[in-house]
Parts: sequence; structure tokens; C-alpha cells
Amino acid sequence: MYDTARRAVVPLDVGHEVRIYVCGITPYDSTHLGHANTYLTYDLLIRRLESLGHEVRLVRNITDVDDSILPKARELGVDFLELAAAETARFEGDMVALETRPPEAQPRATEWVAEMVELIGRLEVGGHVYVVDGTVFFDVSTFETFGEMSGYDEATMIEMSRERGGNPDDPRLRNPLDFILWQPSLPDEPSWDSPWGPGRPGWHIECSAMSMSLLGNTLDIHGGGSDLVFPHHEAERAQSEAATGETFVRHWMHCGMVAYEGRKMSKSLGNLVFVSELGKIADPRALRLALMAHHYRSDWEWFDADIDDGSATLDLLLAAAGGSSGPDPQPFVDRVHSALDDDLDAPAARRTMLELAEAIVAGDGTDQGAAAALREMAALCGIDLTRPVSLSS
Ligand SMILES: [Zn+2]
Repeated sequence: MYDTARRAVVPLDVGHEVRIYVCGITPYDSTHLGHANTYLTYDLLIRRLESLGHEVRLVRNITDVDDSILPKARELGVDFLELAAAETARFEGDMVALETRPPEAQPRATEWVAEMVELIGRLEVGGHVYVVDGTVFFDVSTFETFGEMSGYDEATMIEMSRERGGNPDDPRLRNPLDFILWQPSLPDEPSWDSPWGPGRPGWHIECSAMSMSLLGNTLDIHGGGSDLVFPHHEAERAQSEAATGETFVRHWMHCGMVAYEGRKMSKSLGNLVFVSELGKIADPRALRLALMAHHYRSDWEWFDADIDDGSATLDLLLAAAGGSSGPDPQPFVDRVHSALDDDLDAPAARRTMLELAEAIVAGDGTDQGAAAALREMAALCGIDLTRPVSLSS
């Protein structure tokens, strides 16, 4: 698997139990294609690890308080927790429809504030923070290797921080890359008590506190979309390792970004492609197959016709799954396994399944185990070929 920190494909060095923390959604809008792409990637990895005999412990959080959900709730005139509950339920429905392996825990940030306060307290004792008018900042100059995971130079980090929720021009900062651990809430925002005054946690500390509380100080695999590499994951690493003195993550894994017909897919452009909408025109397995056509690390574009391609692929696989004979399936099975074990090469695994399916449908070969082997390969990839096509409504 490719490791973001080492910038190379390296052996995935894990024991029997594999602890994975994937940054989850901020529940202020519905599940879109980018989410589906990320969570189905981890789902494929988990299925492969389980098939190899590993026990996988997946934790995927819900960021139900941060700088994006509060303005959205204000704009809609609803309580942020109501908005979060409604969108979380829709997200869970989408994940069930896509048949993803359920996480062992789905912690909500608002339920782990005590752990966040405790963690910030440890950082304060260790001399890693400074406080200005009730806002607690992490002092990156106290963490020597800050920036080494993401590998960006300082100017790039400052620019990315500005684009992704940070405020490097804040005059209170000692260093433009210092980030907020705790801050006073605005009058209409939720607030918790803390040693630094009432307020709310910063975004990054949420994931450090939830992941380490549930999975221990060292995670085997941690990731999310590649837009989280900096500042979110770099900040998580700094504050976690500064607090524990232990390695926070053994293997960093990030998924590419999905654009839509030539443009970045974003809420502000109003061009998000929602999983629930796709479910009305196609079987969720067709979406999974369409996404498998792209390697998880690449940035790529979604086109509306892609879902038709996914549906046609699903039709072919279903037709072949009911076939009576085909070629010897073992070479195909071996190729699917080695594709998945080569940095989770889903496109190669998908091509191999299609090749076998085409051969079965064409009546090539006399091996009566071909269709069963195809069903097994598809199941490994999260695609159940034992039931017909269905639409969500
Ligand atoms: Zn996170």
C-alpha cells in the first residue's frame, strides 16, 4: 500500500488486528460521490484484509461540531444537532445501501469533548500550547517534525491552511501554522466548560481525541480524502505525538478527489452528485462498479454517463453469475487477489472480473466452477451477485 508519509508503496506491516480510523463526514449536507469514493475504498481494503484473516477495527467519526456545520445550521435556522442527526441518518442510509462494512464505532465529536479537553490539558502541561483571550493554540515550533508527513514546504502549508479552514494571518499567532485547539464560542454557538473558559474544540483535536480514545495511541491505518493531508492530518499527528510521545499512525492512506464534468465538485459550486439521487436511477452496486474503474489515489472526473456504464457492467456480471460453465477461473482469481494486494488496484480487479464474465457469457470453456468463482470475486469486492437489480425508489 502507498504510504503518504513515506511517499512510496510499501508492505502493509500489520498484525492480526488492524486498527483503522477514517475521518468521517461533517453532517451538514448529503453524502456525495466524493464521500462514496473514499468510504468504498476503505471498504474494499477492509474486505480484502478480512479475507486474508485479519480482524479489522474500523472507527469512522462524525464531525457534528466545527466551523462548517455551525454557519450552515444558522443559515437554515435549525439547531446544529438536529441538522447533524438528520444528515447522519441519511449518510448511514447511503452507507447501508452501498453495503459497506459497518464501523465498530461512529463517535460524534460532541460526545467526546471531555476527552478533547483532557488531551489539550496534557499538551499544556507539556509546553505545546499558548493561550490568547480564551483561545488555545498549538505551538508548532514545539514539534520538530511538523510538516514531515505531508511533505509540503512552509509557503505551501501556509497557503493550504488558508484554503482549508485555518487563518494563518491571525495576529494572535506566534507562527502562521499554529492552529486552534480550543476557542470561545459565539453567542449562538454550543459551548462547553474548560480550564481556558467556556468554548468549543478546534477541528483537528476532535479526531486525535476520538481515535486514540477508541483505538489506542497508535493507529495502524489512518486516512480520508487527500484534502485532509494538510492541515488536518498533519495537525492530528503533531498534537497526538506531542501528547503521547508515541507514533500516532503507522500507515497514512489517502484517496483522490472526484471532480464533476470538468469542474471541482463542491458545495459552493452547487454541483455535488448525491449518492441518494444516483440510487434512484441505478442499483448501488452499479455505483460501486463505476467507482472501481478509478484507482483510489488518482484524482478523476465523474460524468453522468458513468452510472450507465456501471449499470451495464453490473448486468454483464449478473448474466455471467448465472452461467453454467466458463474457463478455468483460478488464474482470474489469482489476478484479482494480486491486483488488490498491489496498492488496492481496483481497476485491474474489475477488468479481470469483466474478462471472466465475458468469457462465461460467450460460452468459452467447460469449467463448471467459473460462475461460482466470479460470484466469490465480486463478493470480495463488495458486490453481491446473488440478487437481481433493484432501485431505491
Ligand atoms: Zn479527522
